[in-house]
Amino acid sequence: MITLKGAVVSAKIKEEVTELLRELAGTIPRLAIVRVGERPDDMAYERGALKKMENFGLQAESFSYPADISDEDFQAEFKKINENPGIDGILLLRPLPKQIHERDIERMILPEKDLDGISPENIARVFAGESEGFAPCTAEAVIEVLKANDISLTGKRVAVVGRSMVVGRPLSMLLLKENATVTICHTRTKEIEKTCQNAEILIAAAGQAKMIDPSYVGADAVVIDVGINVDNDGNLCGDVDFESLNGVASMATPVPGGVGAVTTAVLAKHLVMAARKRRGSRA
Ligand code: NDP
Repeated sequence: MITLKGAVVSAKIKEEVTELLRELAGTIPRLAIVRVGERPDDMAYERGALKKMENFGLQAESFSYPADISDEDFQAEFKKINENPGIDGILLLRPLPKQIHERDIERMILPEKDLDGISPENIARVFAGESEGFAPCTAEAVIEVLKANDISLTGKRVAVVGRSMVVGRPLSMLLLKENATVTICHTRTKEIEKTCQNAEILIAAAGQAKMIDPSYVGADAVVIDVGINVDNDGNLCGDVDFESLNGVASMATPVPGGVGAVTTAVLAKHLVMAARKRRGSRA
């Protein structure tokens, strides 16, 4: 089984970003990472994103607020970031605490600064199969992994496990745009193992540690693991029991070191595209 490493895909995206940056003639795009509270997964994602931006030669700044900030105060703070001309793109770490109306923020964020595809405009574009706008970074990262490894999607049977608005649903639409035949699985799917086994490409985005074992995987399938979980020993792991797929799958992404590394690279690419657009160049 071939291991599809995220770092290789990230390096290819870095080349694209460097080329796009060159055309910006010295102005460095600036990302705002907005975090409420100190959830460990948010903090880890923020650290990874800050490191990636620095590595790609981009600027990033964290805007963090206490977990008990009121809805009104957070909206006022978010408005300032949204309207700040010195900020080219925004990454909002979610889910937000319950007292904050996330829907209001999704509607407020300017689509041209919405790098992670949470605004109604960007979501509609993804579902309409348009190329304009920004898709959620993780969903796009999966497509980047497949493309960078020359895995064609046209006409392929692809099963996606998970139907969240963050990963499963937008990813299914991006796959459809690439002419794949997509089956979306979830907790109510009957005979899910059989459905997944029938797929030539299986994508796991369920958030269930090591759920995908050989009983879900067809011979020589390509398996992409989006999951980020902690196992019983406290170690980071994916939705896929990676080792068990040896001799079954043809290729698979590891966790860590797979899709996660590509997600922040896609974020960087979106940031440069947003900056180019805001400065009036062709995006
Ligand atoms: P959610 O919990 O929002 O959604 C999980 C989805 O998986 C739901 O649609 C659920 O079905 C389905 N599901 C859960 N358990 C099963 C099961 N046993 N069988 C079939 N379907 C199941 O999670 P997210 O979509 O936000 O995230 C999914 C995973 O991806 C998580 O591990 C998360 O940490 C990771 N992630 C990784 C990112 C990255 O950059 N690599 C970024 C974002 C997320 P139902 O709708 O029926 O409840």
